[in-house]
Amino acid sequence: MATLDSAALVLNASYEPLCVVPSRRAVVLVLTAKALPVAEGDGVVHSARTDLAIPSVVRLTRFVKVPFRATVPLTRKAVFARDGGRCVYCNATATSLDHVVPRSRGGSHTWDNVVSACSRCNHVKADRGIAELGWRLGRKPVAPTGAAWRVIGARRVDPRWRPWLGDLPYDPSEEALEEPA
Ligand SMILES: [Zn+2]
Repeated sequence: MATLDSAALVLNASYEPLCVVPSRRAVVLVLTAKALPVAEGDGVVHSARTDLAIPSVVRLTRFVKVPFRATVPLTRKAVFARDGGRCVYCNATATSLDHVVPRSRGGSHTWDNVVSACSRCNHVKADRGIAELGWRLGRKPVAPTGAAWRVIGARRVDPRWRPWLGDLPYDPSEEALEEPA
């Protein structure tokens, strides 16, 4: 159940996704008239003046200019988010990053060569390419684009954010972004 500890999607005044913030922050934005609730989340917060449904999506009342960002930083958390927190080879819970083409064989540290993997596959694969092992990738790894990178830091993509996110390069199912155990 979502509470003040869950997260909300913040849209620009133009409805473009901007970022994900804790629900607590979204409530403050609404109470200070910096944002309007767009989609309700779960629960109600009681303030001195009013009761407010905790929003899952808010929209800024004033347009904010966002610096253009050409590439999404390649971080462990972002790769895990793109790959749904799963090992791309066996679908177990991912615990590490893997270079599809090993670095020792000239593989690059880029979005199209870095995937999330479990420790077992990482260990078995070692310095070999997947062709040698007879493994295959379910889908080609690509850099997140569009709205995806703005929500990629979120632990979980709320299905209620979906209408504003366009096409994500990964499956934003509820369980997809659980932190690995
Ligand atoms: Zn695996």
